Amino acid sequence: LRNLVIVLGDQLDPDASAFDEFDPAQDAVWMAEVAEESTHVWSSKPRTAVFLAAMRHFAADQRDAGHTLHYTELDARGNKGTLADQLAADLEKLKPEALAMTEPGEWRVREALQQTADAAGIPLDIRVDRHFFSTVAEFAEHAEGRASLRMEYFYREMRKRHSILMTTRGQPVGGQWNYDADNRKPFPKQGPGLVPPRATFPPDEITREVIELVEKEFGEHPGSLDSFAWPVTRAQALEALDLFIDERLPGFGDAQDAMWPGEPWLWHAHLSSSMNLKLLHPREVVAAAEEAYRSKRAPLSAVEGFIRQILGWREYVRGIYWTQMPGYVQRNAFEAFEPLPDWYWTGDTPMACLKDAVGTTLENGYAHHIQRLMVTGLYAMLLGVDPREVHAWYLAVYVDAVEWVELPNTLGMSQYADGGLMGSKPYAATGKYIDRMSPYCETCPFDPAKRIGDDACPFTTLYWDYLIRHEQPLAENHRMALQVKNLDRLDDDEIAAIRGRADAIRRGDVTAPEGAR
Ligand code: FAD
Ligand code: SF4
Repeated sequence: LRNLVIVLGDQLDPDASAFDEFDPAQDAVWMAEVAEESTHVWSSKPRTAVFLAAMRHFAADQRDAGHTLHYTELDARGNKGTLADQLAADLEKLKPEALAMTEPGEWRVREALQQTADAAGIPLDIRVDRHFFSTVAEFAEHAEGRASLRMEYFYREMRKRHSILMTTRGQPVGGQWNYDADNRKPFPKQGPGLVPPRATFPPDEITREVIELVEKEFGEHPGSLDSFAWPVTRAQALEALDLFIDERLPGFGDAQDAMWPGEPWLWHAHLSSSMNLKLLHPREVVAAAEEAYRSKRAPLSAVEGFIRQILGWREYVRGIYWTQMPGYVQRNAFEAFEPLPDWYWTGDTPMACLKDAVGTTLENGYAHHIQRLMVTGLYAMLLGVDPREVHAWYLAVYVDAVEWVELPNTLGMSQYADGGLMGSKPYAATGKYIDRMSPYCETCPFDPAKRIGDDACPFTTLYWDYLIRHEQPLAENHRMALQVKNLDRLDDDEIAAIRGRADAIRRGDVTAPEGAR
């Protein structure tokens, strides 16, 4: 055996760099389903099922292509349980001359596989991942010498470099780089109207087997598989992309930040898992969106807003991850050490917005960005939860969770635990923000306008408590100065009352008030 090509669960593209110069006569493919990937964080059932189902479909294609495949199933006898141990055992048997793989999406996995290869004395060729617009080296070059990093500047560079939404004279189409001011409207009071149906893919035989396996091996893990319908093949992912471009993209901008009970999907793309597993290339997603604008099927504000998420944020967070690891995961700028409340794993809370955000997360392995950032993320930050616990939750529950994208979003963007590397200020807000963007508060026993009292919204109490606890570092941030200044309006009694109620919330003794609305 000449080369053994390692393919991980988020590298499911036969044209990936790992396959460059692949010769079926001399080379073979290696894949393994191992328990550790579902247990190092308490991976939800939908997340594990998406990965395993997509891996098995990919494996079937490899066999059909006539490639020699060494594939270990999760419940195979003698399964070693970790990627490193399984690889070590297989290297002894197969004795390849060399190993090749595309860069993994997680520091931990990269280290483990490199060590395994070194211990076996077999050279491992780790190749650039072509499933991004930029390389980590390009990001590092952009970051070098800058006192602070901001996504917007990086995004503009990317627009120019890749000629996306640019005029022939090198100007941004429409004359502006960013159409956020036209996007992100609150939900219309009369309701969401007709949300287009999303692409769903009922499990085929392979996926049904995986669902059974996940129930058998990880029955106690969070989440449900009852309505599993995620794309797990490239053909399905392409179908989901087409449907998004036709049906949802035109409404994407307006509803980007809005929330509505019982409407988890709204006008979002639901393409993150397909892109992260490499069933779809971000270039084809961005090209399809740009084409929809150029053929007048979607407005510029929606298309620019959507492209910015992929060409801007997605690439930017990847650069942050690989240039900041391994130290990044330990960062805890505001010394937050509270445990994550247990109900993050069940949704059992009287707070209407959190109940729905956690509930949809567990049911579907999905919540849209603003639920992640401004509901579950905001609450954990205001409560003062240890960022590593928050990170372990986000990495566990979402079908699109891979550490390179999850960690900077969680630790940097949502928790501000990197002290401002990723974003310029914490996303701190009271319950009034949620009230503006959704009708949740109308059915909640708490009142978003109140900061003290039994029926005060816990977000609002904790927001003021957060400002009080971190007044000094926040006051030094000019983008927070105005918010901090509002503390001057509070007298000592009110400060004491806020702190007392915040402590009670932390102890977990917040229940819906008697005779609540
Ligand atoms: P849409 O809203 O339709 O956006 C389109 C695409 O843009 C997404 O598919 C995604 O690829 C990309 N995108 C949008 N926002 C971001 C972002 N902030 N960072 C990177 N890419 C982005 N995304 C993940 O893919 N995996 C994660 O594990 C993950 N964890 C997150 C944790 C937190 C705390 C937060 C605040 C965000 C997280 N995100 C993560 C980013 C974002 O919320 C999801 O990409 C998005 O909700 C996926 O749904 P969608 O495909 O419908 O996205
Ligand atoms: Fe959420 Fe507070 Fe509104 Fe209740 S009142 S739904 S807890 S923001």
